[in-house]
Amino acid sequence: MHLQNKEISSTSSNLIDSQREFFTSGKTKNIDFRIEQLKILKQAVIENETKIVAALKADLNKPQFETYAAEISVTKEIDYALKHLKSWAKPQKVAIPLEQMPGSGSICAEPLGVVLIIGAWNYPFQLNISPLIGAIAAGNCAIIKPSEYAPNTSKCLADLIAKYFDPAYLAVVEGDVEVSQELLQQKFDRIFFTGSTAIGKIVMAAAAKHLTPVTLELGGKSPCIVDTDIDIEVAARRIVWGKFINAGQTCIAPDYILVNRKIKQDLLANIKRYIQEFYGDNPATSPDYARIINQKQFFRLTNLLQAGEIIIGGETNATERYIAPTVIDRISPEDAIMQEEIFGPILPVIAYDNLTDAIAIINQKPKPLALYIFSRDRNFQQQICQSTSSGGVCINDTVMQCGVSTLPFGGVGDSGMGSYHGKASFDTFSHFKSILNKSFRLDFNWRYAPYAEKLSLLKQVIGLK
Ligand code: NAD
Repeated sequence: MHLQNKEISSTSSNLIDSQREFFTSGKTKNIDFRIEQLKILKQAVIENETKIVAALKADLNKPQFETYAAEISVTKEIDYALKHLKSWAKPQKVAIPLEQMPGSGSICAEPLGVVLIIGAWNYPFQLNISPLIGAIAAGNCAIIKPSEYAPNTSKCLADLIAKYFDPAYLAVVEGDVEVSQELLQQKFDRIFFTGSTAIGKIVMAAAAKHLTPVTLELGGKSPCIVDTDIDIEVAARRIVWGKFINAGQTCIAPDYILVNRKIKQDLLANIKRYIQEFYGDNPATSPDYARIINQKQFFRLTNLLQAGEIIIGGETNATERYIAPTVIDRISPEDAIMQEEIFGPILPVIAYDNLTDAIAIINQKPKPLALYIFSRDRNFQQQICQSTSSGGVCINDTVMQCGVSTLPFGGVGDSGMGSYHGKASFDTFSHFKSILNKSFRLDFNWRYAPYAEKLSLLKQVIGLK
């Protein structure tokens, strides 16, 4: 669905009304219905693989391999939900205290209603479909607003959802900031937003007007700390991969390296070696290297090339929105490149002499989405985990943590709130309703007025010592 100007307001509220009606019919509460819809979604992704690959190629020059690994692989989340949905949705019995007997306690997951999913442009297919899986599994109706900066993928998503689903159940609303703002005026039962910290604040302020709960999947500067006790080749390979897939436009890409000075030269030599092995002598001609999404982002990134000493890469081409995989040495924590999330293929390197200094650099900044540690040393790993806060941690690898359905994915502080993936997606889109079910039998009068002479009994029941 593509909306223009004044049409936006009435069309989006009509759409929400029709989704409310659909939700009120109770259809989505049926677990078999949800399972059926998840299967349809999986089939839709499989049947449209070629179109999805083409859309991402057009938007980001995303290599087919990366599209398959990081966008289409979202079907694994569907399989996981299909396998576990019945147990997630089952009421959970809980123990109740003696004074509440006879009776029983349970927690029941119920769908929230009509939810809004707003996506970012860097993984523009997966970042919309993955939360949608949670919304469907939990029994909601959903409206998706993909990013206008990946217009081909946005259109592909809109076509796909419209072809396989009733818009009164699931719909895509395409458009720019104006469309997004109009949607945010409406009342939803949850807003799931993926994007920048700055826009996250706008989304949360709009949601507050309706007391709508929000999940904010934001960004940040994810540090990568490299100790001496490592397999340096494997570490370099995994850092190069995690930093330069999608040309660095990955929310959990290692943003900067903090490396023990003793192995800095060795690490940099290996990083150089693997950049060359992955993308050849001239990455501009590699079929496996993506492009920067648009001119605005391109110029923002090239401005960051001023500080330090470029030791690898640095070549740019504005017409092609190409920035070579770039590594910059001799960076200080005060440089401009260390003040904002890079979100592109530029890797600054800072050497440290002792771990306390490295931790201090991390803790001077807002809490990041991811934190990477390369070390075999358990004490080193623990010291960092215990003295820093981040959305998640991955030890001896990069980016792979987001592919584990049993690990909730989300930020903390400036990098976001709430989480998803696997059961966390189901929980995010559910309300957990507490139910106390009492029997009519044994109606002791210890709690009823008149209270005279009942206080000592109450104290015994409450058990205050
Ligand atoms: P963005 O915040 O500019 O845009 C995200 C969405 O918000 C888009 O759909 C856009 O149309 C909408 N939007 C933009 N301005 C708006 C406004 N004023 N009012 C209402 N809606 C508005 O983010 P982006 O540039 O698409 O993505 C980059 C950011 O997203 C980075 O910071 C990155 O780290 C983060 N990100 C986070 C995750 C995660 O899972 N935590 C994943 C991908 C990207």
